[in-house]
Amino acid sequence: MLSPSLYEIHHSGFRALVLPGAGLEELHSGCRWAEGPVWFRDLGCLLWSDIPNQRMLRWVPDGGVSVFRSGSNFANGNTRDRQGRLITCEHGTRRVTRTETDGSITVLADSYQGRRLNSPNDVVVRSDGTIWFTDPTYGILSDYEGFRAEPEQPTRNVYRLDLATGALDAVVDDFVQPNGLAFSPDETRLYVADSGASHDDAGPRHIRVFDVVDGNRLTNGRIFYAMESGVPDGLRVDTEGNVWTSAGDGVHCVSPEGRLLGKILVPQIVANLTFGGPRRNRLFITATRSLYSLYVSATGVQAP
Ligand code: MG
Repeated sequence: MLSPSLYEIHHSGFRALVLPGAGLEELHSGCRWAEGPVWFRDLGCLLWSDIPNQRMLRWVPDGGVSVFRSGSNFANGNTRDRQGRLITCEHGTRRVTRTETDGSITVLADSYQGRRLNSPNDVVVRSDGTIWFTDPTYGILSDYEGFRAEPEQPTRNVYRLDLATGALDAVVDDFVQPNGLAFSPDETRLYVADSGASHDDAGPRHIRVFDVVDGNRLTNGRIFYAMESGVPDGLRVDTEGNVWTSAGDGVHCVSPEGRLLGKILVPQIVANLTFGGPRRNRLFITATRSLYSLYVSATGVQAP
């Protein structure tokens, strides 16, 4: 029996994806806005961002939480590249960086067509090594999660960065506020959240899906899943193609056809999540002040 205080079942298929005995664990609290979780399987740890506190934190099983990076430039979304290096979106410096194995930081992107990026928010790396990230204006709207500034870009884009050629291309330019993103398991689709309703009730609160053409273009954009309240921020995909997305009331699990299967109800607003643990069957959920975890019966897709 699934706990009705933890789960909402909207389709019977959800029962196979969660565990009746598993409970939501609060692993840490005390953040101002927790975001950007990334699992390091080789190191057995989770890193995430606490954006307004300008720090990144590290959680280790049985070892608690420590500061991974202070003075993080209002870091937000994180992922790893195919070599396992940390890729980070920074609001304060309006750039995407790579942390090398010696700890030094390489700037991968900070401008497009001669103008500064808005404030890179979330990032994913494709199997070909290209880096895809979103660039809404959240980090320049105030001095709380970055530094207030007028946008230099006329639009809020999704970008594809090809480090082999150095090309930075806007692959979509018609979002209100592009936010979390993830590829389907076979990388033929890209899911991108539009959280425009965060600052405008009439704005979008949906996830769009695109077909990926030749690994470098997006076509056939359409609404994949729309929420009734709250907004989608970060999202991840499991090996069966289900999309697990952040929402105002927790985590929503959506089938590849766009049907809501069920919800995990979380006591604080969820900004992002990732699959981790040695079997990638443990959700790590960044939700406002806290980091939560929950074992599930699904397996996450994530690099490397
Ligand atoms: Mg985000």
